[in-house]
Amino acid sequence: MATKEFKAESKRLLDLMIHSIYTNKEIFLRELISNASDAIDKNYYRSLTDTNISFNKDDFYIRITPDKENRTLTITDNGIGMTKEELENNLGTIAKSGSFAFKNENEAKEGVDIIGQFGVGFYSAFMVSDSIIVKSRAVNSEQAYKWESKGAEGYEIENTEKEAVGTEIILKIKENTDDEKYDEYLDEYKLKSLIKKYSDFIKYPIKMLVKKSKLKEGSEKDYEDYFEDEILNSMVPIWRKNKNELKPEDYDQFYMDKHFGYEKPLKAIHASVEGITSYNTILFIPANAPYDFYTKEFQKGLELYSNGVLIMEKCADLLPDYFSFVQGLVDSADLSLNISRELLQHDRQLKIIAKNIKGKIKSELLSMLKNDREKYDEFYKSFGRQLKYGVYSDFGSNKEDIQDLLLFYSSTEKKLVSLDEYISRMKEEQKFIYYATGESIEKLEKLPQTELIKDKGFEILYFTDDIDEFAIKMLTKYKEKEFKSASSGDLGFEVDEKENQKETEENKDLFEFMKETLNGKVKDVRVSKRLKNHPVCLSNEGELSIEMEKVLKMMPDNQNVKADKILEINTNHEMFAAIKQAFAEDKDKLKMLSNVLYNQALLIEGLSIDDPVQFANDVCNLIK
Ligand code: ADP
Ligand code: MG
Repeated sequence: MATKEFKAESKRLLDLMIHSIYTNKEIFLRELISNASDAIDKNYYRSLTDTNISFNKDDFYIRITPDKENRTLTITDNGIGMTKEELENNLGTIAKSGSFAFKNENEAKEGVDIIGQFGVGFYSAFMVSDSIIVKSRAVNSEQAYKWESKGAEGYEIENTEKEAVGTEIILKIKENTDDEKYDEYLDEYKLKSLIKKYSDFIKYPIKMLVKKSKLKEGSEKDYEDYFEDEILNSMVPIWRKNKNELKPEDYDQFYMDKHFGYEKPLKAIHASVEGITSYNTILFIPANAPYDFYTKEFQKGLELYSNGVLIMEKCADLLPDYFSFVQGLVDSADLSLNISRELLQHDRQLKIIAKNIKGKIKSELLSMLKNDREKYDEFYKSFGRQLKYGVYSDFGSNKEDIQDLLLFYSSTEKKLVSLDEYISRMKEEQKFIYYATGESIEKLEKLPQTELIKDKGFEILYFTDDIDEFAIKMLTKYKEKEFKSASSGDLGFEVDEKENQKETEENKDLFEFMKETLNGKVKDVRVSKRLKNHPVCLSNEGELSIEMEKVLKMMPDNQNVKADKILEINTNHEMFAAIKQAFAEDKDKLKMLSNVLYNQALLIEGLSIDDPVQFANDVCNLIK
């Protein structure tokens, strides 16, 4: 029979497994048991919803059978089984679990124990096996199939006999080496302890024939061995356990077992709620965003159980988009098993649960912000963007829920601060929450527009994320304090209006000439109220800021919208004398100066100039 090759990606992961030098080989058992449990879940769920099947929860089991003589370890389940196609597709390819993409990303990082950190699934069995046989018979199928592989070369599939529906996985355990005692995976005691460690919460019994001894009949001192089935796991799902019985490690372990993420979660939230709607929930805040988090592929959702039975793997309705990073599950006895996805969306119970969960997540995050700032900063680094998107999206309808959770970098504190913290530090005469938008903190520190605001001792929030300004525009104010951009035409200061007006009046023709020279590129040329040491800057009028113009320009369907720009001139700067002189004596020179100054202002904003060659020539001409 022809050997079929594994798909390319699988081959590489397999390679990693076979030549693995990881100390954590033992997790293979957890992976196989978790697959068996998933398969039983599917079968059990079917039996509950399909009246033609009469199955009892007690009928389901997973069996572990070590055979020292033949060096095999067999894991049997009476789950849903696999058809020939499923054997081929599910075991011939890497599951979509995302683990592989993660591996690629992290391959370069040294010492990252990827296998210990996330689920590698079925293939992990090759860490301890020379060959693997999978015999499976799918529900509703008379024919069973045998899948066999020795690893890298590929696999073979053929027809076989199997009495019961389900799957049997036979591992041919490797011979011991100097470094590795593979024998222990055939050892009863070791297997028991592995199952206790990794698979205790699996809700179906994991059975093994265990050697016991008893007094021989009629004897007072002679013992004899006998075998008895033992259930090795406690079967109580972790979310049904009492919080007091559980240690942080238990939650971490559960998180890994569930493949919610590949690193320890930042926080586990465990709650049992009794009321009109009763439910148990465990929610996790991951430490890092999954590799696909900010893409369309990412699917939010919590696992949904009805009385311990999984009814949906990703119930999106349980989480608002802005908390889409949350992982975990909800188990409620108040939900019907037979409910369809469409009906579920309108389910009143589910809506109540979703609302409670939203509140719970928010209050936990707020308390983290208050009591464990370092952790919150870490959280914010991973998911702050999502919160800011949340403020902006859905026309700002969720902004009230999220605004307290936002952080921005502060010009005075030199770290991320919350809006509450900003407000608590506002000066008496300060009316607005000031912000400046730019590419990086370093660039913002030098932005001319912020000079006067800083001079007054006001704090400025630095926006470096594309989404920041859009989100803030949606908020418009926080606790009655309006936001104000450092680049906006009017900064809301009491300036010496008289002095300003005088200068404006005096230089009216000059500014008009400059404006005409710039030929529509700026809406106006004005005396600056904000510059101290810099000669010029751009500010803007209207809703659309220069930074927003930049962001919109990068969008695929950009409408080429432009902010209304004002060229502000620092009349106290010595350069202004040269401008005045040119206006009086040499109009051509003033044209050149106007263009150079405008282009300088563009460069300071991080905008590109239309004609760099002309700009360079102009500068040279001025130096001459
Ligand atoms: P994952 O569990 O993350 O999907 P695995 O590599 O562990 O990835 O398993 C791949 C797939 O093989 C599973 O999704 C499942 O469809 C199938 N499978 C594995 N073990 C069993 C089993 N014991 N019974 C039925 N299907 C199984
Ligand atoms: Mg798996």
